[in-house]
Amino acid sequence: MSRVFNFSAGPAMLPEEVMKKAALEMTDWNGSGMSVMEMSHRSKEYISIAEKSEKDLREMMSIPDTYKILFLQGGASSQFAMVPMNLLRGKDTADYINTGAWSKKAIAEARLFCKVNIAASSEASKFTTIPPRSEWSLNPEAAYVHYTPNETIGGVEFHTIPEVGNVPLVADMSSTILSRPVDVSKYGVIYAGAQKNIGPAGLTIVIVRENLIGKVISGTPTMFSYETHSKADSMYNTPPTYSWYIAGLVFEWIKNKGGLKVMAEINKRKAGKLYDAIDNSNFYSNPVDPYYRSWMNIPFTLAKPELDSKFLEEAKAAGLVTLKGHRSVGGMRASIYNAMPEAGIDALIAFMKDFEKKNA
Ligand SMILES: *Cc1c(COP(=O)(O)O)cnc(C)c1O
Repeated sequence: MSRVFNFSAGPAMLPEEVMKKAALEMTDWNGSGMSVMEMSHRSKEYISIAEKSEKDLREMMSIPDTYKILFLQGGASSQFAMVPMNLLRGKDTADYINTGAWSKKAIAEARLFCKVNIAASSEASKFTTIPPRSEWSLNPEAAYVHYTPNETIGGVEFHTIPEVGNVPLVADMSSTILSRPVDVSKYGVIYAGAQKNIGPAGLTIVIVRENLIGKVISGTPTMFSYETHSKADSMYNTPPTYSWYIAGLVFEWIKNKGGLKVMAEINKRKAGKLYDAIDNSNFYSNPVDPYYRSWMNIPFTLAKPELDSKFLEEAKAAGLVTLKGHRSVGGMRASIYNAMPEAGIDALIAFMKDFEKKNA
């Protein structure tokens, strides 16, 4: 069977070139006589893989030398706890911006550790917009400000970095990292689960400013301290070796395509096409404030929701899969990360037009 266009929010599509390379190297990596899966993480072969991937990521994102890159397990969800454990640093309150389902999860977890000030929330508008920076009530005593640059479920995205003064800015970039260049120096911590736009599930990337490492709240388990992993170059215990290796291949793939600037142009164009198709029809709609629409996750509804399952069935038959919207939002959602080829967007748009013609 040929490959489908998979619009899954995560785990999500990976570049075909990456998987072909991994397949070629599956049983014998670079003459080592073994798979990367079978390698000791302390072997010189694996360390060369780890070092190269870190170097490529650092170059690609222009990550300053004053930041550590950690390759961890536990998912973005573990970072919901690790962030307060590592960043409270003697303070007892943190600012959170509430723009959707993932913000809410981060907030609920932070409440286990500190007072949470919701400095801004778009819940009243059902998370279809982002409160303007001028309306945020940040607490100057906060240990950090946490926000979710792209809400994977609601399809709402910040297209600029909020200014928060000297308080460290923390971002859950799970579903937007590597979609465009970002000024890392504006952040205290950036974290992301890999399974959206980096690689396979199991790997979590944390980019943390060095001067924020080393002061955890009392009782923090060793594995939850950034210092543990920073000191050991992410080899304190066994890292998710194979996912890390595939992530490295993805970094190489992005570099070969021209880097993050080129990815941004492609992503903007891909998303623009799909929003135009939605906006130019009377049958499909997207509820998000056009200014804050996500480049990565595009929810849309049909004018006749009773046709949802027919839409999904026929889309699947046309090789367009996993378009069902999140249960909390309903309708459809097209997740179109870096690895979704532009041809996948074109095929989806053609299918949508045809479906509308036959069913509207
Ligand atoms: C998927 C996702 C998460 C959860 O990631 P896990 O790695 O499954 O813990 C958190 N935040 C955002 C923005 C996500 O998209």
